[in-house]
Amino acid sequence: MKLIFLGPPGAGKGTLAAKVVDIIKVPHISTGNIFRSAIAAKTPLGLKVKSIIDSGRLVDDETTIALVRERLGQDDAASGYILDGFPRTIAQALALADFSEVDKVVNFDIPDAGVIERLGGRQTCRECGTNFHLVFGRPKQEGVCDTCGGELYTRDDDREDAIRRRLEVYREQTAPLIDHYRKQGLLVDIDARPDAGEVVAIFRKNLGL
Ligand code: ADP
Ligand code: ZN
Repeated sequence: MKLIFLGPPGAGKGTLAAKVVDIIKVPHISTGNIFRSAIAAKTPLGLKVKSIIDSGRLVDDETTIALVRERLGQDDAASGYILDGFPRTIAQALALADFSEVDKVVNFDIPDAGVIERLGGRQTCRECGTNFHLVFGRPKQEGVCDTCGGELYTRDDDREDAIRRRLEVYREQTAPLIDHYRKQGLLVDIDARPDAGEVVAIFRKNLGL
């Protein structure tokens, strides 16, 4: 099954994707995680995108499309994937349609207030990208990832000014994808406000899994 997870920052796309890959056994492909790994490893891609990402703006379409095209060409993605954080612009959606045919687009529905509450207090694992939260999902041991033992940190783009910028960018450039995919009959809406366990149940029900 080929799925796109669409929704504002902080909607819980990455958290749900991590749970859903156990159910449908496809790779979770997060462009944000790929960029952050490149930044940590100081690769040419990482050096190029670091300041853009820290400020909450989007990496250019050409770079992002090339990255995803390459990733979807790998064997493990042949029969399915969850694309988390891509496409984020109409240009990216049109490019994707040229190299892959998605089955469903899952739209995470959550008001801005919910987003701001979740992103403030979020902590991310440097090694595996798993998210925790100081209020909604504390790690078992403070500062340490439950999944892999990696160090938890606050992303530079989870600061207040960058969060505001990301929401603006989402509204202007990414939200138009909702109508784009609805017109194609691919959209499945899910209420992203409840806690993660409940969202998994809603997801299964709405996708008939
Ligand atoms: P979130 O969903 O929490 O905003 P992501 O981890 O998906 O964060 O993305 C973090 C940052 O990586 C984005 O703010 C953006 O700068 C960059 N990025 C990720 N995916 C894309 C994309 N498809 N196009 C352009 N930039 C992207
Ligand atoms: Zn980890």
